Amino acid sequence: MNNEIKFIDDIDLRGKRVLIRVDLNVPLDEKGNITDDTRIRSVLPTINYALDENARVILASHLGRPKGKKVAGMSLAPVAKRLGRLLEKKVTLTPDCTGKETRKILHEMKPGDVVLLENLRFNPAEEKNSDGFGRKLGELADVYINDAFATAHREHASNVAVIKYVEEVGAGLLMKKELSYFTRAMEKPMRPFVAIVGGKKVSDKVGLLSSLCEKVDKLIIGGSMALTFFKALGYEVGKSLVEDDALEEAKRVVANARKRNIKLYLPVDFVVADRFNPSAETKVVTYQEIPPTWMALDVGPATVTLFNEAIQNAKTIIWNGPMGVFEMDAFSRGTFAMVSNVANSYALTIVGGGDTDVAVHRAGEFAKMSYISTGGGAFLQLLQHNDLPGIAALRTKKKRRPGTPRSRKGR
Ligand code: AMP
Repeated sequence: MNNEIKFIDDIDLRGKRVLIRVDLNVPLDEKGNITDDTRIRSVLPTINYALDENARVILASHLGRPKGKKVAGMSLAPVAKRLGRLLEKKVTLTPDCTGKETRKILHEMKPGDVVLLENLRFNPAEEKNSDGFGRKLGELADVYINDAFATAHREHASNVAVIKYVEEVGAGLLMKKELSYFTRAMEKPMRPFVAIVGGKKVSDKVGLLSSLCEKVDKLIIGGSMALTFFKALGYEVGKSLVEDDALEEAKRVVANARKRNIKLYLPVDFVVADRFNPSAETKVVTYQEIPPTWMALDVGPATVTLFNEAIQNAKTIIWNGPMGVFEMDAFSRGTFAMVSNVANSYALTIVGGGDTDVAVHRAGEFAKMSYISTGGGAFLQLLQHNDLPGIAALRTKKKRRPGTPRSRKGR
């Protein structure tokens, strides 16, 4: 899949203006301080590589959802400051992405300089994948590198429209790492291959479950996703969170798994609560005994044992979505037990971003996972469709280079 795109280390960057699309969408507290800089750290190898090649490095990112307007609290200023400290060099933040003053700053850059463009999403054209905005961004650089895996499932100007306006394009080192783990898991997995899917966004993930049925040997389902399956199978789930629109699809997944001889694991017991509250009254019941006025908020101890046994002989594990409402202590045991069991398995373990990443970090087990993806939505879409718009766009470049001297020569 990724053998058709170029990576940054295949491209001559020396002295060139290199526009790197990164994902520096870090969480900020009310005072505008960065609470977790993992996303900044994960693109340092690419930035440092470009600096070692003496490139002029122009970084572009979004932050938050400013909806096309300039919002002071969503400026990339704190990111520029932190990045400067991590790189131990000055990082200049521009006032916008493509305005006159910004272009002047870029024009004056010297090899080895780093400039960060202000939040891409202050411009409504970014999320519309506007060709005009893509052209303006493209005109800033000689080389374009996409290293924003976590946004590669979006079709935006900074990762799709921009492509045809830069002579040379490729992917960065973070993207390379993400794609190489993906390939190891999905194209030539060591078997048994086990997928663990939890969380609550069932409609986002049912398509994924269907495509996983084509590849895995075992499928483990937890979180409120499991409750949707139990409801689809005709069980009483009380006031548990279920997605009624996904019931038919859940039935199809069960039938598909049966047809393909995939072992499907659902919880056998739950921690139920009388309300959605950290201090609710709780008890452990089997999947057949959820009281009509209670809700299941975590998997129970027998399920933890069952799921642990199911992953014992696994050689490849991919995991997305918590087993319960792990944000509340009373309903976090199922998820943290899963973190520990996956971390201590002998398999290649790939964890897909978002809440699962948070749980793994909170449990302090991140170093024991083979790989934690930086993308939540992107990770899920890549698993499901085997490709992402931001990656596909890099591939199309090889086939058409409108307006370049080379294509004119060919005519
Ligand atoms: P997702 O974004 O689909 O991975 O869902 C993550 C969210 O699912 C977390 O915030 C969990 O609190 C939530 N979740 C997991 N299990 C349950 C459950 N049984 N009931 C309600 N929410 C759940």
